[in-house]
Amino acid sequence: MKQFNVPIIYRSPLITAIKTRRRQEDKLKKDLSPTLLDFGPVQIYLARHFGFCYGVENAIEIAFRTVEENPGRRIFLLSEMIHNPQVNEDLLNRGVQFLQDTSGKQLVAFEELNSDDIAIIPAFGTTLEIEAKLNDRGIATEKYNTTCPFVEKVWNRSEQIAKSNYTIVIHGKPRHEETRATFSHAASKTASVIVNDMNEAIILSEYITGKRPAAGFYSAFKGQYSEGFDPATHLQRIGVVNQTTQLASETQAISDFLKQTMIDHYNLSEENIEERFADTRDTLCYATNDNQSAMIGLLQTPADLAIVVGGYNSSNTTHLVELCEEKLPSFFISDEDKLLSYTEILHYDRIAKKEIKTHYYLPHRQPVKILLSSGASCPDAVVENVIRKIVSFYPDAKTNPLNY
Ligand code: SF4
Repeated sequence: MKQFNVPIIYRSPLITAIKTRRRQEDKLKKDLSPTLLDFGPVQIYLARHFGFCYGVENAIEIAFRTVEENPGRRIFLLSEMIHNPQVNEDLLNRGVQFLQDTSGKQLVAFEELNSDDIAIIPAFGTTLEIEAKLNDRGIATEKYNTTCPFVEKVWNRSEQIAKSNYTIVIHGKPRHEETRATFSHAASKTASVIVNDMNEAIILSEYITGKRPAAGFYSAFKGQYSEGFDPATHLQRIGVVNQTTQLASETQAISDFLKQTMIDHYNLSEENIEERFADTRDTLCYATNDNQSAMIGLLQTPADLAIVVGGYNSSNTTHLVELCEEKLPSFFISDEDKLLSYTEILHYDRIAKKEIKTHYYLPHRQPVKILLSSGASCPDAVVENVIRKIVSFYPDAKTNPLNY
Protein backbone atom coordinates (compact mmCIF):
# COMPACT_ATOMS: atom_id res chain seq x y z
CA MET A 1 0.00 0.00 0.00
CA LYS A 2 1.13 3.56 -0.71
CA GLN A 3 3.38 5.17 1.91
CA PHE A 4 2.39 8.64 3.13
CA ASN A 5 4.42 11.49 4.49
CA VAL A 6 2.89 11.76 7.95
CA PRO A 7 4.49 14.13 10.50
CA ILE A 8 7.04 12.30 12.65
CA ILE A 9 5.22 13.44 15.81
CA TYR A 10 2.49 10.90 15.05
CA ARG A 11 4.89 7.98 14.56
CA SER A 12 6.19 5.65 17.24
CA PRO A 13 9.52 3.86 16.77
CA LEU A 14 8.37 0.98 19.02
CA ILE A 15 5.09 0.43 17.20
CA THR A 16 6.58 0.92 13.74
CA ALA A 17 9.11 -1.83 14.56
CA ILE A 18 6.34 -4.16 15.76
CA LYS A 19 4.09 -3.49 12.76
CA THR A 20 6.94 -3.90 10.28
CA ARG A 21 7.93 -7.21 11.79
CA ARG A 22 4.34 -8.51 11.92
CA ARG A 23 3.85 -7.48 8.27
CA GLN A 24 7.02 -9.28 7.18
CA GLU A 25 6.07 -12.46 9.07
CA ASP A 26 2.45 -12.47 7.90
CA LYS A 27 2.14 -10.82 4.50
CA LEU A 28 -1.37 -12.18 3.90
CA LYS A 29 -2.63 -10.84 7.24
CA LYS A 30 -3.91 -14.27 8.30
CA ASP A 31 -2.49 -14.26 11.84
CA LEU A 32 -4.76 -12.23 14.10
CA SER A 33 -2.97 -13.08 17.34
CA PRO A 34 -1.76 -10.06 19.31
CA THR A 35 1.84 -9.02 19.99
CA LEU A 36 2.88 -9.50 23.61
CA LEU A 37 4.82 -6.70 25.26
CA ASP A 38 6.05 -8.43 28.40
CA PHE A 39 7.19 -5.85 30.92
CA GLY A 40 7.19 -8.39 33.78
CA PRO A 41 4.60 -7.18 36.31
CA VAL A 42 2.45 -5.88 33.45
CA GLN A 43 1.86 -7.64 30.15
CA ILE A 44 0.35 -5.66 27.29
CA TYR A 45 -1.20 -7.48 24.37
CA LEU A 46 -1.26 -5.26 21.29
CA ALA A 47 -3.86 -5.97 18.60
CA ARG A 48 -2.55 -7.26 15.26
CA HIS A 49 -4.06 -4.28 13.43
CA PHE A 50 -4.76 -0.82 14.79
CA GLY A 51 -4.00 2.85 14.16
CA PHE A 52 -3.83 5.09 11.10
CA CYS A 53 -5.52 3.74 7.98
CA TYR A 54 -4.92 4.64 4.34
CA GLY A 55 -7.58 7.38 4.26
CA VAL A 56 -6.39 9.04 7.45
CA GLU A 57 -2.71 9.08 6.39
CA ASN A 58 -3.71 10.46 2.99
CA ALA A 59 -5.79 13.23 4.62
CA ILE A 60 -3.06 14.15 7.09
CA GLU A 61 -0.41 14.31 4.36
CA ILE A 62 -2.57 16.59 2.18
CA ALA A 63 -3.62 18.83 5.09
CA PHE A 64 -0.11 19.42 6.47
CA ARG A 65 1.32 19.90 2.96
CA THR A 66 -1.41 22.44 2.20
CA VAL A 67 -0.51 24.43 5.33
CA GLU A 68 3.21 24.35 4.42
CA GLU A 69 2.72 25.34 0.79
CA ASN A 70 0.27 28.19 1.40
CA PRO A 71 1.66 30.64 3.95
CA GLY A 72 -0.55 33.71 4.31
CA ARG A 73 -3.67 32.10 2.82
CA ARG A 74 -6.70 31.27 4.94
CA ILE A 75 -7.18 27.51 5.17
CA PHE A 76 -10.48 26.02 6.30
CA LEU A 77 -11.41 22.47 7.17
CA LEU A 78 -15.06 21.73 6.49
CA SER A 79 -15.21 20.11 9.93
CA GLU A 80 -12.85 17.89 11.89
CA MET A 81 -10.53 16.38 9.30
CA ILE A 82 -10.53 13.03 11.08
CA HIS A 83 -12.04 12.17 14.44
CA ASN A 84 -8.88 12.56 16.47
CA PRO A 85 -8.42 15.41 18.95
CA GLN A 86 -4.60 15.60 18.72
CA VAL A 87 -4.50 15.85 14.92
CA ASN A 88 -7.28 18.44 14.79
CA GLU A 89 -5.65 20.45 17.56
CA ASP A 90 -2.30 20.42 15.70
CA LEU A 91 -3.99 21.76 12.57
CA LEU A 92 -5.82 24.48 14.53
CA ASN A 93 -2.48 25.47 16.08
CA ARG A 94 -1.10 25.93 12.56
CA GLY A 95 -3.87 28.46 11.84
CA VAL A 96 -6.38 26.17 10.13
CA GLN A 97 -10.03 27.00 10.94
CA PHE A 98 -13.14 24.81 11.03
CA LEU A 99 -16.17 25.86 8.94
CA GLN A 100 -18.54 23.54 10.82
CA ASP A 101 -18.49 21.41 13.93
CA THR A 102 -18.97 17.63 13.67
CA SER A 103 -22.76 17.92 14.02
CA GLY A 104 -22.92 20.27 11.03
CA LYS A 105 -23.36 23.52 13.01
CA GLN A 106 -21.90 26.43 11.03
CA LEU A 107 -18.90 28.10 12.73
CA VAL A 108 -17.84 30.37 9.85
CA ALA A 109 -20.47 31.52 7.33
CA PHE A 110 -19.90 30.46 3.71
CA GLU A 111 -20.50 34.12 2.78
CA GLU A 112 -17.25 35.04 4.55
CA LEU A 113 -15.20 32.90 2.17
CA ASN A 114 -13.60 34.18 -1.00
CA SER A 115 -11.71 32.70 -3.93
CA ASP A 116 -8.30 33.17 -2.23
CA ASP A 117 -9.32 30.80 0.55
CA ILE A 118 -8.60 27.10 0.66
CA ALA A 119 -11.19 24.61 1.90
CA ILE A 120 -9.98 21.09 2.70
CA ILE A 121 -12.57 18.36 2.27
CA PRO A 122 -12.09 15.77 5.03
CA ALA A 123 -11.52 12.03 4.72
CA PHE A 124 -15.27 11.43 5.24
CA GLY A 125 -16.05 13.41 2.08
CA THR A 126 -18.79 16.02 2.00
CA THR A 127 -22.26 16.66 0.67
CA LEU A 128 -22.95 17.90 -2.86
CA GLU A 129 -24.73 20.88 -1.27
CA ILE A 130 -21.59 21.99 0.60
CA GLU A 131 -19.43 21.44 -2.47
CA ALA A 132 -21.83 23.69 -4.45
CA LYS A 133 -21.67 26.39 -1.77
CA LEU A 134 -17.86 26.37 -1.90
CA ASN A 135 -17.88 26.49 -5.69
CA ASP A 136 -20.29 29.46 -5.52
CA ARG A 137 -17.68 31.30 -3.42
CA GLY A 138 -15.09 30.63 -6.15
CA ILE A 139 -13.32 27.88 -4.20
CA ALA A 140 -12.18 24.87 -6.24
CA THR A 141 -12.81 21.72 -4.24
CA GLU A 142 -10.81 19.15 -6.23
CA LYS A 143 -7.26 20.17 -5.30
CA TYR A 144 -7.68 19.91 -1.53
CA ASN A 145 -10.08 17.02 -1.46
CA THR A 146 -8.97 14.30 1.00
CA THR A 147 -12.07 12.12 0.61
CA CYS A 148 -10.98 8.54 1.26
CA PRO A 149 -11.17 6.29 -1.81
CA PHE A 150 -13.01 3.72 0.33
CA VAL A 151 -15.77 6.28 0.97
CA GLU A 152 -15.90 7.06 -2.75
CA LYS A 153 -16.28 3.33 -3.35
CA VAL A 154 -19.54 3.45 -1.35
CA TRP A 155 -20.75 6.36 -3.49
CA ASN A 156 -19.91 4.37 -6.63
CA ARG A 157 -21.71 1.33 -5.28
CA SER A 158 -24.75 3.53 -4.53
CA GLU A 159 -24.68 4.83 -8.09
CA GLN A 160 -24.68 1.28 -9.50
CA ILE A 161 -27.64 0.34 -7.29
CA ALA A 162 -29.46 3.52 -8.33
CA LYS A 163 -28.92 2.74 -12.04
CA SER A 164 -30.81 -0.52 -11.54
CA ASN A 165 -33.73 1.38 -9.99
CA TYR A 166 -33.28 0.27 -6.43
CA THR A 167 -33.86 2.58 -3.47
CA ILE A 168 -30.73 2.93 -1.33
CA VAL A 169 -30.86 2.06 2.34
CA ILE A 170 -27.80 3.51 4.06
CA HIS A 171 -26.83 1.85 7.32
CA GLY A 172 -24.97 4.58 9.20
CA LYS A 173 -25.11 7.18 11.93
CA PRO A 174 -27.46 9.83 10.52
CA ARG A 175 -25.41 12.78 11.87
CA HIS A 176 -21.96 11.41 10.99
CA GLU A 177 -20.18 13.43 8.28
CA GLU A 178 -19.54 10.36 6.14
CA THR A 179 -23.17 9.19 6.27
CA ARG A 180 -24.40 12.71 5.47
CA ALA A 181 -22.03 12.80 2.48
CA THR A 182 -23.04 9.33 1.28
CA PHE A 183 -26.72 10.20 1.70
CA SER A 184 -26.27 13.38 -0.35
CA HIS A 185 -24.56 11.50 -3.18
CA ALA A 186 -27.07 8.63 -3.10
CA ALA A 187 -30.10 10.94 -2.91
CA SER A 188 -28.91 12.78 -6.04
CA LYS A 189 -29.34 9.49 -7.94
CA THR A 190 -32.34 7.75 -6.38
CA ALA A 191 -34.68 7.61 -3.38
CA SER A 192 -32.59 7.04 -0.23
CA VAL A 193 -33.15 6.47 3.47
CA ILE A 194 -30.77 6.10 6.42
CA VAL A 195 -31.19 3.43 9.12
CA ASN A 196 -29.13 3.92 12.23
CA ASP A 197 -29.38 0.41 13.71
CA MET A 198 -31.31 -2.85 13.77
CA ASN A 199 -34.18 -1.20 15.61
CA GLU A 200 -34.68 1.24 12.73
CA ALA A 201 -34.23 -1.59 10.19
CA ILE A 202 -37.14 -3.40 11.89
CA ILE A 203 -39.27 -0.23 11.72
CA LEU A 204 -38.36 0.17 8.03
CA SER A 205 -39.35 -3.46 7.39
CA GLU A 206 -42.80 -2.69 8.79
CA TYR A 207 -43.22 0.05 6.18
CA ILE A 208 -42.04 -2.41 3.52
CA THR A 209 -44.67 -4.97 4.52
CA GLY A 210 -47.40 -2.39 5.16
CA LYS A 211 -47.66 -3.38 8.82
CA ARG A 212 -47.28 0.31 9.64
CA PRO A 213 -49.35 2.94 7.76
CA ALA A 214 -47.12 4.79 5.25
CA ALA A 215 -47.99 8.21 6.70
CA GLY A 216 -45.96 7.47 9.85
CA PHE A 217 -42.76 6.96 7.84
CA TYR A 218 -42.00 10.68 7.72
CA SER A 219 -41.85 11.15 11.46
CA ALA A 220 -40.15 7.78 12.09
CA PHE A 221 -37.34 8.68 9.67
CA LYS A 222 -37.37 12.47 10.05
CA GLY A 223 -34.25 13.98 8.49
CA GLN A 224 -33.20 10.57 7.15
CA TYR A 225 -35.04 10.29 3.81
CA SER A 226 -34.59 11.98 0.45
CA GLU A 227 -36.93 14.63 -0.90
CA GLY A 228 -40.08 13.18 -2.47
CA PHE A 229 -39.63 9.80 -0.75
CA ASP A 230 -42.82 7.76 -1.05
CA PRO A 231 -42.75 4.66 1.19
CA ALA A 232 -45.57 3.08 -0.83
CA THR A 233 -43.45 2.97 -4.00
CA HIS A 234 -39.83 3.48 -2.93
CA LEU A 235 -39.58 0.47 -0.63
CA GLN A 236 -40.43 -2.12 -3.28
CA ARG A 237 -36.84 -2.56 -4.51
CA ILE A 238 -33.95 -1.84 -2.17
CA GLY A 239 -30.18 -2.20 -1.84
CA VAL A 240 -28.12 -1.62 1.30
CA VAL A 241 -24.81 0.23 1.64
CA ASN A 242 -23.00 1.09 4.88
CA GLN A 243 -21.00 3.80 6.51
CA THR A 244 -17.50 2.33 6.12
CA THR A 245 -16.83 2.11 9.85
CA GLN A 246 -19.89 0.24 11.12
CA LEU A 247 -19.76 -2.88 13.25
CA ALA A 248 -19.40 -5.76 10.76
CA SER A 249 -21.75 -8.11 12.63
CA GLU A 250 -24.52 -5.48 12.86
CA THR A 251 -24.13 -4.55 9.20
CA GLN A 252 -24.47 -8.18 8.16
CA ALA A 253 -27.47 -8.72 10.45
CA ILE A 254 -29.30 -5.66 9.05
CA SER A 255 -28.63 -6.62 5.45
CA ASP A 256 -29.73 -10.25 6.07
CA PHE A 257 -32.84 -9.05 7.90
CA LEU A 258 -33.98 -6.69 5.14
CA LYS A 259 -33.25 -9.33 2.50
CA GLN A 260 -35.39 -11.86 4.40
CA THR A 261 -38.15 -9.23 4.74
CA MET A 262 -38.24 -8.93 0.92
CA ILE A 263 -38.13 -12.72 0.45
CA ASP A 264 -41.06 -13.22 2.84
CA HIS A 265 -43.15 -10.27 1.71
CA TYR A 266 -42.81 -10.89 -2.02
CA ASN A 267 -42.64 -14.68 -1.79
CA LEU A 268 -39.18 -14.84 -3.38
CA SER A 269 -36.24 -17.22 -3.12
CA GLU A 270 -32.43 -16.88 -3.34
CA GLU A 271 -32.79 -17.43 -7.12
CA ASN A 272 -35.01 -14.42 -7.80
CA ILE A 273 -34.30 -12.16 -4.81
CA GLU A 274 -32.54 -9.69 -7.12
CA GLU A 275 -35.96 -8.61 -8.38
CA ARG A 276 -36.39 -6.79 -5.06
CA PHE A 277 -33.06 -6.72 -3.25
CA ALA A 278 -29.76 -5.66 -4.78
CA ASP A 279 -27.01 -8.22 -4.32
CA THR A 280 -24.75 -6.16 -2.11
CA ARG A 281 -21.79 -7.11 -0.07
CA ASP A 282 -21.10 -4.75 2.79
CA THR A 283 -19.24 -1.54 2.02
CA LEU A 284 -17.13 -1.55 5.18
CA CYS A 285 -13.57 -0.51 4.43
CA TYR A 286 -10.48 -2.72 4.79
CA ALA A 287 -9.35 -0.88 7.94
CA THR A 288 -12.67 -1.46 9.69
CA ASN A 289 -12.53 -5.14 8.78
CA ASP A 290 -8.87 -5.52 9.77
CA ASN A 291 -9.22 -3.66 13.08
CA GLN A 292 -12.43 -5.45 14.09
CA SER A 293 -11.04 -8.88 13.11
CA ALA A 294 -7.85 -8.10 15.04
CA MET A 295 -9.96 -7.08 18.04
CA ILE A 296 -11.83 -10.40 17.89
CA GLY A 297 -8.40 -12.12 17.72
CA LEU A 298 -7.14 -10.03 20.64
CA LEU A 299 -10.17 -10.93 22.75
CA GLN A 300 -9.19 -14.63 22.59
CA THR A 301 -6.42 -13.77 25.08
CA PRO A 302 -7.54 -14.00 28.72
CA ALA A 303 -6.88 -10.61 30.32
CA ASP A 304 -7.84 -8.37 33.22
CA LEU A 305 -8.94 -5.34 31.22
CA ALA A 306 -8.89 -3.71 27.81
CA ILE A 307 -7.91 -0.19 26.83
CA VAL A 308 -8.96 1.33 23.49
CA VAL A 309 -7.41 4.64 22.45
CA GLY A 310 -9.02 7.15 20.10
CA GLY A 311 -11.28 10.16 19.61
CA TYR A 312 -14.58 9.87 21.47
CA ASN A 313 -16.54 10.82 18.35
CA SER A 314 -14.72 8.23 16.24
CA SER A 315 -17.18 5.65 14.92
CA ASN A 316 -14.64 2.91 14.19
CA THR A 317 -13.03 3.30 17.63
CA THR A 318 -16.42 3.14 19.37
CA HIS A 319 -17.16 -0.17 17.67
CA LEU A 320 -13.85 -1.60 18.91
CA VAL A 321 -14.90 -0.58 22.43
CA GLU A 322 -18.29 -2.25 21.94
CA LEU A 323 -16.57 -5.53 21.03
CA CYS A 324 -14.35 -5.32 24.14
CA GLU A 325 -17.20 -4.50 26.48
CA GLU A 326 -18.88 -7.80 25.66
CA LYS A 327 -15.90 -9.65 27.16
CA LEU A 328 -14.12 -7.74 29.92
CA PRO A 329 -13.78 -4.41 31.78
CA SER A 330 -12.96 -1.90 29.03
CA PHE A 331 -11.73 1.68 29.08
CA PHE A 332 -12.05 4.09 26.15
CA ILE A 333 -9.46 6.88 26.51
CA SER A 334 -8.29 9.63 24.17
CA ASP A 335 -4.66 9.71 25.37
CA GLU A 336 -2.23 8.88 28.16
CA ASP A 337 -3.35 11.85 30.30
CA LYS A 338 -6.53 9.94 31.08
CA LEU A 339 -4.46 7.41 33.05
CA LEU A 340 -4.49 9.65 36.09
CA SER A 341 -2.61 7.26 38.37
CA TYR A 342 -2.20 3.60 39.27
CA THR A 343 -5.65 3.74 40.86
CA GLU A 344 -7.63 6.24 38.77
CA ILE A 345 -8.60 6.44 35.12
CA LEU A 346 -10.79 8.97 33.28
CA HIS A 347 -12.57 7.26 30.42
CA TYR A 348 -15.45 7.78 28.02
CA ASP A 349 -18.75 6.12 28.72
CA ARG A 350 -20.18 5.70 25.21
CA ILE A 351 -23.73 5.14 26.50
CA ALA A 352 -23.80 8.18 28.84
CA LYS A 353 -21.71 10.09 26.26
CA LYS A 354 -19.40 11.63 28.86
CA GLU A 355 -16.10 10.99 30.59
CA ILE A 356 -16.30 9.24 33.94
CA LYS A 357 -13.69 8.39 36.55
CA THR A 358 -13.13 4.79 37.67
CA HIS A 359 -11.05 3.83 40.70
CA TYR A 360 -8.91 0.69 41.08
CA TYR A 361 -9.02 -0.18 37.38
CA LEU A 362 -5.69 -2.05 37.62
CA PRO A 363 -5.92 -5.28 39.66
CA HIS A 364 -3.37 -5.86 42.44
CA ARG A 365 -2.21 -9.30 41.31
CA GLN A 366 0.75 -9.63 38.96
CA PRO A 367 1.29 -9.93 36.11
CA VAL A 368 -1.59 -7.69 35.09
CA LYS A 369 -2.74 -8.54 31.57
CA ILE A 370 -4.01 -5.63 29.44
CA LEU A 371 -5.42 -5.79 25.92
CA LEU A 372 -4.65 -2.67 23.89
CA SER A 373 -5.88 -1.30 20.57
CA SER A 374 -6.68 2.03 18.92
CA GLY A 375 -8.93 3.44 16.23
CA ALA A 376 -8.05 4.20 12.61
CA SER A 377 -7.56 7.91 13.35
CA CYS A 378 -5.31 7.51 16.39
CA PRO A 379 -1.57 8.23 16.00
CA ASP A 380 0.74 5.37 17.05
CA ALA A 381 2.68 7.91 19.10
CA VAL A 382 -0.36 8.26 21.38
CA VAL A 383 -0.57 4.48 21.81
CA GLU A 384 3.14 4.35 22.70
CA ASN A 385 2.57 7.13 25.27
CA VAL A 386 -0.27 5.09 26.77
CA ILE A 387 2.02 2.04 27.02
CA ARG A 388 4.77 4.10 28.67
CA LYS A 389 2.32 5.65 31.15
CA ILE A 390 0.96 2.24 32.19
CA VAL A 391 4.49 0.87 32.60
CA SER A 392 5.46 3.90 34.71
CA PHE A 393 3.06 2.62 37.39
CA TYR A 394 5.28 -0.48 37.80
CA PRO A 395 8.75 0.54 39.04
CA ASP A 396 10.06 -3.04 38.62
CA ALA A 397 9.03 -3.26 34.95
CA LYS A 398 11.56 -4.57 32.42
CA THR A 399 12.77 -2.07 29.84
CA ASN A 400 12.82 -4.45 26.89
CA PRO A 401 9.36 -5.99 26.51
CA LEU A 402 9.91 -7.74 23.18
CA ASN A 403 11.45 -11.16 22.98
CA TYR A 404 13.18 -10.29 19.72
S1 SF4 B 1 -11.64 4.24 8.23
FE1 SF4 B 1 -11.72 3.35 6.15
S2 SF4 B 1 -13.06 4.71 4.98
FE2 SF4 B 1 -12.46 5.82 6.83
S3 SF4 B 1 -10.65 6.99 6.22
FE3 SF4 B 1 -9.91 5.02 7.02
S4 SF4 B 1 -9.69 3.66 5.22
FE4 SF4 B 1 -10.98 5.41 4.65
